[in-house]
Amino acid sequence: MLLKDKVAVITGGAGRNGLGYATAKMMAAQGARVAILDLAGAEPAAAAADLGPGHIGVVANVTDKAACEAAAVEVLTRLGRIDILFNNAGITQPRKTLDISAADYDAVMDVSLRGMLYMSQAVIPAMRAQKSGSIINTSSVSAQRGGGILGGPHYSAAKAGMLGLGRAMAREFGIDGIRVNAVTPGLIATDINKGLIPEDRMKGILEQIPLNRIGEPNDVAGCVVFLASDLAKYLTGVTLDVNGGMLIH
Ligand code: NAD
Repeated sequence: MLLKDKVAVITGGAGRNGLGYATAKMMAAQGARVAILDLAGAEPAAAAADLGPGHIGVVANVTDKAACEAAAVEVLTRLGRIDILFNNAGITQPRKTLDISAADYDAVMDVSLRGMLYMSQAVIPAMRAQKSGSIINTSSVSAQRGGGILGGPHYSAAKAGMLGLGRAMAREFGIDGIRVNAVTPGLIATDINKGLIPEDRMKGILEQIPLNRIGEPNDVAGCVVFLASDLAKYLTGVTLDVNGGMLIH
């Protein structure tokens, strides 16, 4: 098993059709104990119970620094350590540049980018003390190609910000044995885009994907498990494209 005796924290992990929950399931199958963090309405405790015994759910809004700190303390108290942080929570909005309001900007930037900073700040002291850790951040192909599928420019900016923040953290914490990497998913079938792409548009999108299908949550989960595991122990600061070849560059 790739993650035996590891403890993983996954933000935005409660939605059963999402990338976070798919990763939680795969990490659990690889021997990890998982803490699913999510908003109260997403019921993270129920999601953790569905994973099986030994996993926990914690209510935390990642845009709230105190909530992130409290969540990390709760995981350390209940599971004893934190080896893996998957910064996966994110929201999107279909907007054009001139229509982005201040509230839109804050909402989208805060969940992805501020949330990544706050949760990383909350867990890094424990990782530093044990001299090991793996942080994986969910950016997006939208950061690399400037959106063009669903999310607005502020979403591209938030996801591009995650790449810069992650690379800087990789430089800073390598000396402490903490690796920081990113995945950039292409179009993956989850609730974030369900029913939002008309059939004729989907045909055009598929023509641009060499593997000729949109992704499944497990396509991303497998890559996150790899980055979390010792198979990737000499990787830090990398961006792993998970997009079926949508952006070969
Ligand atoms: P999803 O909507 O199923 O998952 C997002 C999760 O984040 C939900 O469980 C939600 O409750 C949680 N969340 C939202 N705001 C939060 C907050 N403030 N604090 C804590 N949790 C919060 O969608 P998904 O597709 O599984 O998205 C997961 C990540 O992948 C997101 O960051 C998204 O931007 C990114 N992504 C998705 C795709 C795709 O095509 N599905 C592509 C690229 C990147």
